[in-house]
Formats: sequence, structure tokens, C-alpha cells
Amino acid sequence: MFLRVEKLLCELPEASQPDPVAAQVVQELMGGQCGEMSTLMNYTFQSFNFRGKKEAKPFYDLLASITAEEMGHIELVANTVNGLLQGAAPRVEGKPESAPLKGMYDTGLPHHFLRGGQSSLPTNALGMPWNGDYVYNSGDLMLDMLHNFFLESGARISKLRVYESTDNPIARELCGFLLVRGGVHQLTWTKALEKLTGVEVSKMLNIPRINLAEIPEAQKWMAIGEHTRLYRFSPDDYRDIVAVFNGTHPEDGSELYVSEDFPTGGAVPPGEPEPQVFAPGYHPEELVEIAQRLLKNANAEPIKVNGRSSKASTSATVTATRKTRR
Ligand code: MN
Ligand code: MN
Repeated sequence: MFLRVEKLLCELPEASQPDPVAAQVVQELMGGQCGEMSTLMNYTFQSFNFRGKKEAKPFYDLLASITAEEMGHIELVANTVNGLLQGAAPRVEGKPESAPLKGMYDTGLPHHFLRGGQSSLPTNALGMPWNGDYVYNSGDLMLDMLHNFFLESGARISKLRVYESTDNPIARELCGFLLVRGGVHQLTWTKALEKLTGVEVSKMLNIPRINLAEIPEAQKWMAIGEHTRLYRFSPDDYRDIVAVFNGTHPEDGSELYVSEDFPTGGAVPPGEPEPQVFAPGYHPEELVEIAQRLLKNANAEPIKVNGRSSKASTSATVTATRKTRR
């Protein structure tokens, strides 16, 4: 089973520069062939389908724990796309004749505005849906590990190219962090192949030849050892990953280790309403009223908006408080 924690794996800068073109490019890291949906679903199916979980437990444990981290990577990519789209169209409520979305279809991905609520989609940068054919799970452990090594290598080159395509701080923060964590996963699969075959696969690194010293957003993570640490993402399970993830980092010689802790992480951005695309539909104040009433009925803590407790509403029905958009 999975446990969800209300945190992102890393702190993202606050959305300040709407950039629908960068949002479109970042979609490749979501639903592209080597995007985060692909790493997530490859490890998900490989762990679900793993035969010989007892006999080959360290390898199963690796797939199981890294699956959880990839889920967190999808969450980071989605929040990055959403941050880049925040404020990307004029915020007008109930004035369709002013054509607030005019021009949005000439820049970035039209589906961000047409299909979604100015938010991320499970597609690549061209708007093509993520494809289940990107999952490779032959059942042969060595072949699957080899595929995963290729997948993480492909993922890293996409991240570098996205980084090179934008100077937007949210997108760059995402790429810097994912380049470091993708490097850890890439190394993990080389270690797995080494333990299985004796072949020193890590000598093939660095593929692609990315010099992370030239990327400040990656450097700060390396300075605190994030490139040498693997997380179990479980209160007590998957301890046998340590049987594979050990030794030293092939590039800087630092000691590899399995963390007993969860990542510190960062806050989940609140996501400002975008009334021109009816997201979230109700007026924000109406939503607070509705939620306060529900919480009062459930004897739960009142919601704090901007640090202040909001008064519980006494409105009779939800529909009575809804404003009509005209
Ligand atoms: Mn990832
Ligand atoms: Mn990965």
C-alpha cells in the first residue's frame, strides 16, 4: 500500500513569471517516453510483477522503494507546470466577451487551457498522451535492470535539454533536483547489474556527459550529499536495498548510503484560482464558506486563510451561495 504525505520532494520557487511555453516544454518530463510517468510505471509494474520476491529481495526492494520516489517526481513536475501556467491568462471572472484566453492558443500547449484548468496534463510536450507501451517489463531481471539504466539515462538528457531551454526559476529548480536524483537511480541500476553479472557497468557513467558542476541548481543538492543517498520511502520496509546500493560514487568517490529518514521536502503550492478557466469553479470565498461549514459539522479545526481563522458559514445550501457567471 501507499502512504501520502502533504509535501513536495523539494521546495519549488513561488510562481512569479507565467511562462506557457516553458510549461509546454516541461510536459516532456511528465509524459514523454523517458518522462517521470514512464519511470514511475516501469518500476510500478516491475515491482508488482516481480517473481521471486523472496529469492531476489534486494532487487525487489529497490524497485519498490524507487517507485515511491518517482510518484513524488510526477508531483514535482505537475506543480512546476502549474506554477508556470499560474497567471498565464488575464484573471477575469464572468466576462467571456473580453476573450481572456485569446492568444493562449498561439503560445505553449493549447490543451493546458482547452482540456485542463490551466494545469498539467499526462502528456508529452506535443500534447500526446503518455503511452503504456513505454513500460518494459520482460520479467527477466537483468533485462529489466538494463532497460531501467537506459531509461534513467534518457530521462537525464531530457532534463538537461529542458534546463537549457528556459531560464524560468521554477523549471530550472525542477531540472536541477531531478538531474541529481535521476543520477542516483541511474547509478542504482548500474550497481544492480554489477551485482548480477560482475560487469562494472558504472564505468560507463557518465551517460550522457552532463557536468553537474556547471548547473547551480544541481550543485546545491550535491553539496549536501543528495547524489549519494537512496531513500527507502517506507517506515520499516525495503531495508535490503543496502545490499545493492553501497560502495562509492564512481564520479567523486564519496560513500553511498541508504537514508533512514524521509526527504525534508518543501511545501505544496496552494495553486491560485484561475477564474477565466473556471478553476476551481466556485468563488474562493464561497469555497472557504462551504469547507468551514463541513468542518464545523465534523467538529474539525477551522481553515486558516492567510494565517487568519475564517468564520464558519451558516449558508443553507451550497447552490444558494454560488454566483452565476455572466
Ligand atoms: Mn524520476
Ligand atoms: Mn528515477
